[in-house]
Amino acid sequence: MTLVHLGLGTNLGDRPANLRAALAALAAIGTVTARSDVWETAPLYVTDQPAFLNMAVALETGLAPLELLASLKAMEDELGRVASVRYGPRLIDLDILLYGDVVMEGEILTLPHARLHERHFALAPLAEVAGAVRHPVLAVTIAGLLERLPEADDVRRLGPLA
Ligand code: AMP
Repeated sequence: MTLVHLGLGTNLGDRPANLRAALAALAAIGTVTARSDVWETAPLYVTDQPAFLNMAVALETGLAPLELLASLKAMEDELGRVASVRYGPRLIDLDILLYGDVVMEGEILTLPHARLHERHFALAPLAEVAGAVRHPVLAVTIAGLLERLPEADDVRRLGPLA
């Protein structure tokens, strides 16, 4: 079993319901041992879209990294199909932020997540469940990485998922 940390994001439809559905689906592939509060964050790259809800969870799982990625992609498809039109935008994005201490760089999967250290929307919730965990490449704790980022006023903590 490995303790991994996942980032959850949603900006379409009933966003809290999408997070609840993702948590329920994760129970099939491991044990969620910690979950952050829900954060509302402004979209970064394509800014002409609704705000995101983001969350981070710790998951104990027996799945290997590529198996885990495949499971998460299947969940994204499955959850997206329930409420969205065919070929429509996905309702939920599931990223592997940390997979224990594993470091890998591949075409399909990069661990830790390649942009984790620059993303407030990923680091702020992750710091709640893994603040003392050291990024295995940068050798800085998650709390330390978050402190290094400039202040962001468009990332706010809403509280626990209802
Ligand atoms: P996106 O649609 O932006 O969520 O990108 C998903 C793609 O990024 C996936 O199909 C993966 O192959 C790739 N990827 C690379 N590293 C990771 C990671 N650590 N977690 C999730 N997806 C990853």
